[in-house]
Amino acid sequence: MRDDIDLHLHTAAVGCANETMALSALLERCEALQYTHIAITDHYNGPHHAAPQRQIREDLEGYDGPLGITWGVELTVADAEAGTLTAHEDIVEQFGWEFVIAGPHGRYGETDPDAIIATQHRLMLATVHNPLVDALVHPWWFSRREFEAGGGMTWFTDMSRIPESHVEELAEAAVETGTAIEMNASAILTAPMFTRSFLEDYQNYISRLNELGVSFTVASDAHDISAIEEAKLAAKFLADAGVPDERIVVPPASDLG
Ligand SMILES: [Zn+2]
Ligand SMILES: [Zn+2]
Repeated sequence: MRDDIDLHLHTAAVGCANETMALSALLERCEALQYTHIAITDHYNGPHHAAPQRQIREDLEGYDGPLGITWGVELTVADAEAGTLTAHEDIVEQFGWEFVIAGPHGRYGETDPDAIIATQHRLMLATVHNPLVDALVHPWWFSRREFEAGGGMTWFTDMSRIPESHVEELAEAAVETGTAIEMNASAILTAPMFTRSFLEDYQNYISRLNELGVSFTVASDAHDISAIEEAKLAAKFLADAGVPDERIVVPPASDLG
């Protein structure tokens, strides 16, 4: 079990994670948890994130502690029609991100459950086929408000509506392109909106992807410092689903200068 890595961490700089996630505190916590390797993957949703991204990279400069650190980014879908992401190759090159994680973040206006599933599947496939992407983030995550009264996902209490063919197509695309699929703790495992039956189905989903040859990443997706240790839950969930350590991706550490 690889409970010593976390490939999805946000910092206070972009403002999505809270003030406990100052980069220095985050690194200190990862060291205290005896992690060996992490990826810093704050959001880049557009030019408004350019300044904080540069700041994080600057703050990483000269780190010489025990952690292997990969300098990365989390992208989201820019255009749901086209399946494009919020950064193109030139932007990725400009910022020097060496680990790109990405995926859809929403329903994109769909209201019918089968249409939501079809759109999600199409966008996950587009993300996996994007040559910039190293890992698909949190499959089937939707925000908490979507599960509240009046939200679009109140029906999503298990994964029975998702066709088996979708699982096979996603696995095939992931294997063919060498894209990992993320096991995300805070977006999925400890998120209050997912039911026990959903999580049981999710473990079977991971098992099936594993049988079909997929590789995985271990991720806390922590937005608060107390959640960094949840990466260990993601590692355990993968192990319980039968995923061997050899299928868990650890990218090369970046040369931080
Ligand atoms: Zn995300
Ligand atoms: Zn995230």
